[in-house]
Amino acid sequence: MILESYLLGEWRRGGGEGVPIRDPATGEVLARASTEGLPLKEAVAYGREVGGKALLALGFQERGRRLRALAQFLSERKEELYRLYLTTGGTRRDAWYDVDGGIGVLFTYASLARNLPEGNVLPEEEALLLSKDGAFQGRHVLVPKGGVTLQVNAFNFPVWGLLEKFAPAFLAGVPTLAKPATPTAHVAQVLVRLMLDSGLLPEGSLQLLVGGVGDLFEALDHRDSVFFTGSRATAERLARHPAFTERGALFNAEADSINPAILGLRAGEEELKRLAQEIAQELAIKVGQRCTAIRRVFAPKERLGALLEATRAHLEALRLGDPREEGVDLGPLASLEQKEEVLRAVEGLLAAGAQVYWRHGGREDGAFFPPLLLLAEDPAPEALHTLEAFGPVATFMPYGTPEEAAELARRGGGSLVATVATPDPEEARFYLLALGPHVGRLHFLNHRNAHASTGHGSPLPRLLHGGPGRAGGGEELGGVLSLKRHLRRLALQADPHLLQALTGEYAKGAERPAQVHPFRKPYEELEIGETLTTHRRTVTEADIALFSALSWDHFYAHTDEIAARESLFGKRVAHGYFVLSAAAGLFVDPAPGPVLANYGLEGLRFLEPVAAGDTLQAHLTVKAKRPRDEKTGVVEWAVEVKNGEGKTVATYTLLTLVARKVP
Ligand code: NDP
Repeated sequence: MILESYLLGEWRRGGGEGVPIRDPATGEVLARASTEGLPLKEAVAYGREVGGKALLALGFQERGRRLRALAQFLSERKEELYRLYLTTGGTRRDAWYDVDGGIGVLFTYASLARNLPEGNVLPEEEALLLSKDGAFQGRHVLVPKGGVTLQVNAFNFPVWGLLEKFAPAFLAGVPTLAKPATPTAHVAQVLVRLMLDSGLLPEGSLQLLVGGVGDLFEALDHRDSVFFTGSRATAERLARHPAFTERGALFNAEADSINPAILGLRAGEEELKRLAQEIAQELAIKVGQRCTAIRRVFAPKERLGALLEATRAHLEALRLGDPREEGVDLGPLASLEQKEEVLRAVEGLLAAGAQVYWRHGGREDGAFFPPLLLLAEDPAPEALHTLEAFGPVATFMPYGTPEEAAELARRGGGSLVATVATPDPEEARFYLLALGPHVGRLHFLNHRNAHASTGHGSPLPRLLHGGPGRAGGGEELGGVLSLKRHLRRLALQADPHLLQALTGEYAKGAERPAQVHPFRKPYEELEIGETLTTHRRTVTEADIALFSALSWDHFYAHTDEIAARESLFGKRVAHGYFVLSAAAGLFVDPAPGPVLANYGLEGLRFLEPVAAGDTLQAHLTVKAKRPRDEKTGVVEWAVEVKNGEGKTVATYTLLTLVARKVP
């Protein structure tokens, strides 16, 4: 039975025979994949027109709230995905990485959205004054790219792969077309059904194609992107398409990578033990079918044997079998084809001089492939560093000096991640610079972090995932970084009034006097740019002496006339914290009201000294605001404290929590 795709607002079945999707544990054909005859090019236009517009109507904040609700919705229904997962060769633990890992990414991006503005424009940096009078200013802003993103996923993470690409695109306001890898497309299809059933995704914001991409690339242009995960060979082929080379669509690739792990020269017994556990875990999770898994292990000659033994001890106890059976730790590989690929790679590694050090005695029938530890006494042959066995196989090699280890690691041609087991800062510093140009993520493992490390192979939603060279050169995740991959940066040039209206943030020169004290207004009524100019206060000797006594801050610049005269101020000055306190005293409206709490300030600068006799005045301007929850919002206030000559003595952004109107 051909699995349906979801395109142009309908579930549609492709024609022809289709490609079979098999359960690798039993060989049974579960379904077939085909997009023959389906309107793929039209899906791009539909995504842009219908999905894109509907997403823009929501804005960052609402999209973030929907991501959180979606994560909740999927959490409550994840058992369905877990059950289906057993038909992919994955165990329940593998499913946890995929399903819960994917839902975790949704939660993370929902949290990130709290710091984003309402609407669809994300301002960067502060504005630049482009004319003396401030009437012409410039500012970088990011806006949604206006196209679609096509995600082409690998077979090994049908759930996480789809969600980790979907979350940042959705939050950015960019519709997704998901193309899962055929071997596990039936899991991705159920996931998409659940996502659509949630009712949280506007029509057109998520489409699914189960089968080939056909002529879809023909419809892509500079507004669009393709986020690809899979083999290097496919990535290289796709990247040559005119959609990218001529029409400027973005191609982001995350391809296979021969990730190294290095036991440092300064590693102790604890580091050796923990690294062995890490390597074993990397071979066991998803039977080593992870793009980030450890493939090559480098250890000082005299410790290589101990590391191999310790790794073997961890793997020996594991049981291979059908993931539906009780007590099974490792299922089969994803398919017979994948097993053939792994066997071919192992043959290549053996031909390059590696020897079998140890092989797990478990099942070898069908797509099953027991863990295998290889030892290459001579690490020189090229193939040891270029052949990827995408399964539970690692090749151990000796090194003499750290320079040798780094050189061997570099021969992988660019990796997603490297682990260096060392507690020593000197050794870590060496590897940071030696491996920095060649890896996307550098994981230091030692006795201080071993209990807390999230592991070599786990990409984290707030940290960048990707790697240079052979690893594809792409970037995914990384918190706001991947959101920005779906937005276009442009330089806005305009007068402050327009800049303020377009960015939703205060632009200097566009302020206007507040009619009511802003501390009396609920969140909704505060307008960007409204300014309170306070009454004045003259600083006295007594203020400085009292503040010293109150704060116990008797620093010479405030209390010692002679030393202060010789200081860079040339006279006794008030405490900076006094200036802040005095400013608050000037601008605060004391009666109970909608301002609930002051929870900090940012970007504080003291620009001029303040001495007894100086007169202070504060200007408080609504700079930016964003809702926090249904009851409260965060308001940023630009505060400027000036002296009697009109010079700014202190400037900062004050953050307050302000009550929202009762709905
Ligand atoms: P592929 O590169 O063949 O497939 C990856 C994705 O690309 C799949 O969705 C596939 O779809 C799609 N695809 C393949 N050809 C085209 C094309 N011409 N146009 C558009 N899309 C295409 O990798 P495999 O999944 O077959 O895995 C093979 C090897 O890739 C593994 O052995 C491993 O070395 C590596 N790999 C790397 C991963 C990583 O995370 N970096 C993950 C998984 C694998 P379809 O399935 O329908 O062919």
